[in-house]
Amino acid sequence: MKLKLKMSTKQASFFESVQRNFDNAALHTQHASGLLAQIKVCNSIYQMNFPVKIGDTYEVIEAFRVQHSHHRLPTKGGIRYSHLVNQEEVMALAALMTYKCALVDVPFGGAKGGVKISVRNYNSEQLERITRRYAVELMRKNFIGPHIDVPAPDYGTGEREMAWILDTYQTFKSGEVMDAAACVTGKPVNQYGIRGRTEATGRGVFYGLREACNDQRFMTKVGLPLGTQGKTMVIQGLGNVGSYTGMISQKEGGVKIIGIAEMEGTIVSKDNIDVEKLVAYRKSTGTILGFEGTTALENQKDWVKIECDILVPAALESQITAENAEGVKAKIVAEAANGPITADAETILLRNGAIILPDMWLNAGGVTVSYFEWLKNISHVRFGRMDKRFNQNAFMNILDTVEKLTSRSIDNDQKLILSRGGDEIDLVRSGLEETIIMSYYSIADYYFAHPEVGSIRSAAFIVAINKVANDYMTMGVFP
Ligand code: GLU
Repeated sequence: MKLKLKMSTKQASFFESVQRNFDNAALHTQHASGLLAQIKVCNSIYQMNFPVKIGDTYEVIEAFRVQHSHHRLPTKGGIRYSHLVNQEEVMALAALMTYKCALVDVPFGGAKGGVKISVRNYNSEQLERITRRYAVELMRKNFIGPHIDVPAPDYGTGEREMAWILDTYQTFKSGEVMDAAACVTGKPVNQYGIRGRTEATGRGVFYGLREACNDQRFMTKVGLPLGTQGKTMVIQGLGNVGSYTGMISQKEGGVKIIGIAEMEGTIVSKDNIDVEKLVAYRKSTGTILGFEGTTALENQKDWVKIECDILVPAALESQITAENAEGVKAKIVAEAANGPITADAETILLRNGAIILPDMWLNAGGVTVSYFEWLKNISHVRFGRMDKRFNQNAFMNILDTVEKLTSRSIDNDQKLILSRGGDEIDLVRSGLEETIIMSYYSIADYYFAHPEVGSIRSAAFIVAINKVANDYMTMGVFP
């Protein structure tokens, strides 16, 4: 009891958790304190208040854009719409973007934006006005541009908002900026977006989970069999990230989804909950409650306690805290959201033998595909346009040669499948898979080679800090 009280009074905020995690990791590096301080600090913080006409009155909207690190440009990160937005939250999220980009070799600095509004309180016309005004405020202070700072979707925003931002930017800049379309990512495909961006974060989470579950070193540690097949999963949050994580893990990884938590309640099932059907059901009824074959928990918050192999917090930060961490039974906690586990909670989970797959690596699929979208925009050409047919013809020639050499013929349909060249979606998925796998090994190998660092998160931080530090040093900024 005493211990519980002590912990709850000392609970670290999201911002403090990120700072503390950085400090813990920094202790294991050899970098000079000045260099570490430069990496840790937020470089530019822009807090703004602007009026927007809502109905018959004007509302003053508070918003932020934080550029955490300028070691690489542009800076990159989503824009969050939530009534909980505050400066420290945006700073913490911007910092995570720096480490995230470094880990997956996306050559950008970290940034984040936030608009303090509750999306439900506004209709789409009002949201458009808020979004366009926010974009203009960013332009006024030079906080947006293809080579300056490139926003993207985050909690509460999606491709609709990105299209408004693009249109606003283009209205003012298309005459002078040739790459104007690269001022924002996560745009609709017919508005200079890229196929595969919407699913990207969830798909990346699945690739990451699959890699960890195929790693004997981790599975021995948690006493689970190799592979994702048949592993049970509970997801908190059925937004973009949670729903794609669930659908892809279920379809491509054979994972069994036995619990889903949303604001309106938590549902559980002994069978596999069909996530695609559940998303459609929620769209039409407005709730996950009452979905076929499921029952609701009495207390929505008990999602943390559900017995399962993989727990996926895919909503907001600070969801697993010192208060509820003891209840977690899952052996693998996969951070699909940014910062869902507080620093205090992490200590408890690790002590109880769980492994935590950290946000800054596991949910980096979104920014990875944003990078591909940005590349597409600045090169003004769709991936696959130049080489798809060439590859297809080359593969077909090989198959013809095989037929000649073996004097056996391959079925025509089969030949078409075997010789298919990559479309944009194939190339995006392939690039994403490669990125998540390569970064997985950079972190996991570091972790197992340096057990003294204590957690996968610390290992990820160290790998990221080393990369950013290396940039500063080779730039000549630090010796
Ligand atoms: N908001 C996403 C994240 O937190 C994506 C950022 C981006 O694509 O720039 O990683």
